[in-house]
Amino acid sequence: MDIPENEKRSLNFIESIIEENLRENKNEGRIHLRFPPEPNGYLHIGHAKSICLNFGLAESYNGLCNLRFDDTNPEKEDVEYVDSIMEDIKWLGFEWNDKPYYASDYFEQLYEWAVEFIKQGKAYVDDQPQELIREQRGVPTSPGVESPGRKRSVEENLKLFAAMKNGEYPDGSMVLRAKVDMASPNMHMRDPIMYRILHQKHHRTGDKWNIYPMYDWAHGQSDFIEGITHSVCTLEFEVHRPLYNWFLDQIATTSYRPRQIEFARLNLSYTVMSKRKLLELVKDKHVKGWDDPRMPTISGLRRRGYTPESLRSFADRIGVAKRDNVIDVGLLEFSVREHLNKIAPRVFGVLNPVKVVITNYPEDKVEVMDLINNPEDEAAGSRSVPFTREIYIEREDFMEDAPKKFFRMGPGREVRLKGAYIVKCEDFKKDADGNISEIYCTYDPETKSGSDTSGKKVKGTLHWVSATNSFDAEIRLYDRLFSDEDPAGHKEVDFKEFLNPESLKVLSNCKLEPSLKEAKVGDKFQFQRLGYFCVDKDSTE
Ligand code: ATP
Ligand code: MG
Repeated sequence: MDIPENEKRSLNFIESIIEENLRENKNEGRIHLRFPPEPNGYLHIGHAKSICLNFGLAESYNGLCNLRFDDTNPEKEDVEYVDSIMEDIKWLGFEWNDKPYYASDYFEQLYEWAVEFIKQGKAYVDDQPQELIREQRGVPTSPGVESPGRKRSVEENLKLFAAMKNGEYPDGSMVLRAKVDMASPNMHMRDPIMYRILHQKHHRTGDKWNIYPMYDWAHGQSDFIEGITHSVCTLEFEVHRPLYNWFLDQIATTSYRPRQIEFARLNLSYTVMSKRKLLELVKDKHVKGWDDPRMPTISGLRRRGYTPESLRSFADRIGVAKRDNVIDVGLLEFSVREHLNKIAPRVFGVLNPVKVVITNYPEDKVEVMDLINNPEDEAAGSRSVPFTREIYIEREDFMEDAPKKFFRMGPGREVRLKGAYIVKCEDFKKDADGNISEIYCTYDPETKSGSDTSGKKVKGTLHWVSATNSFDAEIRLYDRLFSDEDPAGHKEVDFKEFLNPESLKVLSNCKLEPSLKEAKVGDKFQFQRLGYFCVDKDSTE
């Protein structure tokens, strides 16, 4: 993967807007952003991009960023999600302004404004069937059909709206609509719905409300109440912007307005990112939960071994675009390897072990080898790894009939055991099925790493663990969850058809060096010659 050497970059278009606003002293120079998740699922890597963008802008311009739960749809929302969202933002290393905000805190104010709209003839109750309302909206190229509700008197609208609120009508029987323009080429301006009836308990307001505001009516007004200056959202809301502004123009009494700015959402190859699809994977048990290490959720990535730094540098690298695009998932994987390379201690682990007996090494001798923890980090120091007569190496590192270019172990060949000695393979034994069961080597005492006086040169270096001074572990190897580049992009085929059956492999007979006994949940290591591993939360003794 090519990463530009010089990562210093010019201003992105949102930064340019902010700097221009600062020069004009707009909003008295205040910069106030918000991150507005709906608590209907766990946050994913796309949200991480939005978090880094919003909180990051607040940081770099000495502004503020609110965390606001967009909790206007109680059917799908839950406190479990609220809690996980806060945990994920904190873990990424960001702090929200004073306290978490909730759109539901504004239900009363929104209701009062709606009543005001009715009084001013700007909103009306529509009791037509939902399909008819949809039909009457029409198509962008010709005007829609006006609802008879438009002609209802203010008094009657007030009465009906109050009755809606008081729970006197069933779900779906009526809506409150803004009276905007049924002929607008922008469909969102064709008398948009402000409220729907929903007899549903809300995780914060309980049974108080039988009507809930729609996104368009709640979002801009929440921005306005909180004094947000720049309301950054994804491109699909661009067509909502005229309505966002129209609503604000009706309620504002000063020149202050939050400004909606749209950017391209993050799409990643080999990944699905909609919360609805992720929920499906969880509910249908294709994964072991929202934080399954194969999930693109922040909690899944954390469990996989991703660091906050790696996600932040990824967000930085991909930048902010105005046009939709797809980012290679390899870039995300690069970001974590780049960071782990700097911080992860190197250790020995043998995933698929085969025993090696060093026949000229004393039987009870245990030699303590001093191995460097991280060549990238001097401060990481070194550790002791016991070397003994019997060791394990990877099965794949031995070949009975090895080709010339196989620089690992084979009959008559010499290799270095990393951090220890050069050994020569003298013989081996097979079991009844023809599998190699034991390998016999001799070692050269002159070749000890760090004090090698032999002058010998060998091409191969293998990792190993002592057979008598190691412990058993279960290792889970994770691969990409989908085997298709764009699993959700096939019209005829369900995205779940592209689940990678090999995305999780469990190895139960792995051997690890003793220093790993001390490892704690979340600790990350580089198993030398293999890759990066992280201690999982459901590890046992
Ligand atoms: P999804 O489409 O995955 O269900 P959402 O947009 O419904 O996500 P919200 O909780 O409403 O989820 O999103 C909170 C914020 O995160 C919004 O400002 C939204 O624009 C932003 N966001 C969501 N998905 C992405 C993404 N893929 N890339 C960048 N920002 C995103
Ligand atoms: Mg949304």
